[in-house]
Amino acid sequence: MNITIIGTGYVGLPTGVCMAELGHKVICVDRDENKIRSLNSGIMTLFEEDLEELFHKNRKEKNIEFTTSMKTGIENADLIMIAVGTPPHPITKEADMKYIHAATTELAEHLTGYTVIATKSTVPVATGDDIESLISKRNPQADFDVVSLPEFLREGFAVHDFFHPDRIVIGTTSERAKTLITQIYKYFEGKTVFHYVNRRSSEVIKYASNAFLAMKIHYINEMANFCEVTGADISEVATGMGLDARIGSRFLSPGPGYGGSCFPKDTLAMSYMARQNNLEMSLVNATIEGNIKRKKDIARRILNTVKDVDKPTISILGLAFKQGTDDCRESPAIDVIFELLQYKVKVIAYDPKAMTLAQELLNDKIGYSNNMYDALENTDCLVILTEWDEFKTLDFEIVKNKMRTPTIVDCRNILNKDQAISSGINYLGIGK
Ligand code: NAD
Repeated sequence: MNITIIGTGYVGLPTGVCMAELGHKVICVDRDENKIRSLNSGIMTLFEEDLEELFHKNRKEKNIEFTTSMKTGIENADLIMIAVGTPPHPITKEADMKYIHAATTELAEHLTGYTVIATKSTVPVATGDDIESLISKRNPQADFDVVSLPEFLREGFAVHDFFHPDRIVIGTTSERAKTLITQIYKYFEGKTVFHYVNRRSSEVIKYASNAFLAMKIHYINEMANFCEVTGADISEVATGMGLDARIGSRFLSPGPGYGGSCFPKDTLAMSYMARQNNLEMSLVNATIEGNIKRKKDIARRILNTVKDVDKPTISILGLAFKQGTDDCRESPAIDVIFELLQYKVKVIAYDPKAMTLAQELLNDKIGYSNNMYDALENTDCLVILTEWDEFKTLDFEIVKNKMRTPTIVDCRNILNKDQAISSGINYLGIGK
């Protein structure tokens, strides 16, 4: 089957590469010329665990091509997946639909033969209806169906999640579209659940899922606070809770708050959509506010460890919003750093993959280190903000010798507290 992906970012690129790996002929269209030039020269434009090898393999086998030309991308497509960004509108915080509208307008005129247009982007309810009427207006002859095909991949695990989805949600009532999508996803038959729903339900499933997961993270962060004041240990509590199949063990790791390009914007968009319908989503709203406060609280904890130090320097390990990606959009690490900088502390940071993208956000406001140990030289507090495996190997003797005052604030609970303390380090975890 011929598949065209519009938007070659954190969703579009892995989806395109993995679809090619399944044997489809894939064309990825992006309007960013630099991105397409790099991809056509065999240079990856983002870091995503396990993606690069599949990218090179499928390029070599000519299963995947990259272009800026919408015409080239669209004219032979059986399925078009729209995977452009839907960032929060700067003022209203609703999902900004300008990229979706632009992509739809551009693709409409090139449609030939029956084509299914699927939204992979996370889009507000009834976007499918809007896309349908926009295409019909611009190209009345077009033979097409618009399907909602929400994406549930986790950055850092995009390749794994593509091949092992918990479910594939297909939002359409068109039998023709269902047949085509089922053919394209044939590999997954018997391996996962195909959940056929109407288009609006599918659009809601994505927002409802992300809002729920964000809430679960906020909830465990609140429980971590509760453990701290009651003398319990959040790791023991989370394991105890997670053993209940109704709750499940995932997304019960406390930390510096959720981030990334999805949960913050999708909770805001959900809240906006509810308000537009005269509904108040109290849980979603509390989650949004709680998560903003969480990052400030974390900064306050860090500052508290250096309150008696003259001109303190703080080492930050981890800038990406989670491990396995270089994505720093809405990263709690970046927000915590900005909060710290208000208090005139010096910050030096290291991340195994996200240095370039973090520097675009932080510029020269902080210092950067080439490795995790150099980031500790003569500093007063070491803060772990991203759960990279590399940081779990920290040698406490080296930490102690390098730092001026050996204090660790482990915002991801990835280090061994007892070993740190017995090495003479002042260790502060979360919820302990
Ligand atoms: P991204 O910003 O990484 O990529 C979007 C790409 O679209 C960019 O390369 C941009 O140049 C391109 N683009 C924009 N307008 C275009 C146009 N008119 N024609 C061609 N290309 C165009 O975004 P992303 O993180 O991949 O997210 C895409 C969508 O998927 C969003 O709606 C997001 O909410 C959703 N989503 C993201 C994730 C995730 O983990 N990142 C997971 C599930 C769903």
